[in-house]
Amino acid sequence: MSNLYLIRYGEIALKGENRSMFEDILKSNIKKSLKKEKGNITIYKTPGRIFLKSDVNQNIVINRLQKIPGLVSFSPVKEVDLNYDKIKEVVLKSAQKALENKDYISFRITARRSNKSFEYDSMELQYNLGEYVIENITENKREVDLHNPDLDINVEIRKNSAYVYSEVYEGMGGLPVGVTGKAGLMLSGGIDSPVAGYMGLKRGAKLIPVYFHSFPFTSDRTKEKVKELTQVLAKYQNNIDLHIVDFTDILTEMNEKCPNDLITIIMRRLMIKITELIIEKKNGKAIITGESIGQVASQTLEALRVTNEVPQLPILRPLLGLNKVQIINLAKKIGTYDISIQPYDDCCTVFVPDSPETRPTIEQVRKGEEDLNIDDKIKKAVESVEVIHIEGY
Ligand code: ATP
Ligand code: MG
Repeated sequence: MSNLYLIRYGEIALKGENRSMFEDILKSNIKKSLKKEKGNITIYKTPGRIFLKSDVNQNIVINRLQKIPGLVSFSPVKEVDLNYDKIKEVVLKSAQKALENKDYISFRITARRSNKSFEYDSMELQYNLGEYVIENITENKREVDLHNPDLDINVEIRKNSAYVYSEVYEGMGGLPVGVTGKAGLMLSGGIDSPVAGYMGLKRGAKLIPVYFHSFPFTSDRTKEKVKELTQVLAKYQNNIDLHIVDFTDILTEMNEKCPNDLITIIMRRLMIKITELIIEKKNGKAIITGESIGQVASQTLEALRVTNEVPQLPILRPLLGLNKVQIINLAKKIGTYDISIQPYDDCCTVFVPDSPETRPTIEQVRKGEEDLNIDDKIKKAVESVEVIHIEGY
């Protein structure tokens, strides 16, 4: 049986002339999220709304739609001819259906009529349809409650059809992935960076994750973890190309040649530099990290200033205003938390300086990098980057 879904997408409507491009990207993202399922999928636009018609299992569709950025809410709907008698039967059926699991319902009818040629206006529809439900359900099983009903039966009278629905599912909101361009995501195995990625893709950025792997200092288990985290992010983005940089040679050289107290900050600068070189080739326009302010010693304003100096591209830090508890709650909601807390070793923790410089200056760090001779190693790291394509479903 084919089901119809009405899809609402608030923010896009604000975007003036780009609107139809945004709608097309949202449509295509919805389609991609279901493309591997058996069943027909038809998606079409009407002014201000997108409709999805599909015979894919309803639970699967609901689950997918809830993970698509740019989608504010959606409802399974019944499409009915513009015929009052037919509409009233469908309305009665949804009240009766609600009674299948309950002994009693409080309900209201909410009607909207954008098609002014329809025989009843919205007030009349609400009144007449409400009365029809009351008349056809046993007295002690129903009551009208305009303010806080169990069941709000919505009736929309549009140009060619009427639509009846009573369930509204919340979506992620934000902007469809792809509308704002591509962005690199510096993805580690920790809690923060996947959440930062989620925030980025919710603002329409298509993520290109870059992970710095330093075997044997970090085990291959960490690499697997980063893959698993990318798989979760791919559920929101449909598919992702994870980039894995072999960082071992650079890290070793850095460890030998740089002052111990500057290792963390210099490592951060090198990672940013390499990330920029990788994502610029893919037309990436920004770099997203999971940094915050003051969370750890390496995230002072002075340290951020010294890392910001490296790339031409802007560094975006979407977690800036969140504390750790808020970040953890978001990680749980997204589905990355349980993966992130599995034990792993981060190259940042392997080479922790005894007493890291928390207020580095640019002069100090440039001097600390003087003995490094790693242009060839950087070139090699960029050229030999491993790309793993990960599908959302
Ligand atoms: P996270 O939980 O994301 O690892 P964190 O609080 O542990 O963050 P740091 O380890 O100082 O903080 O790292 C800060 C940011 O640098 C990370 O959020 C991530 O964006 C980036 N980063 C750190 N390690 C790596 C790595 N091995 N590969 C790619 N990016 C990394
Ligand atoms: Mg970390």
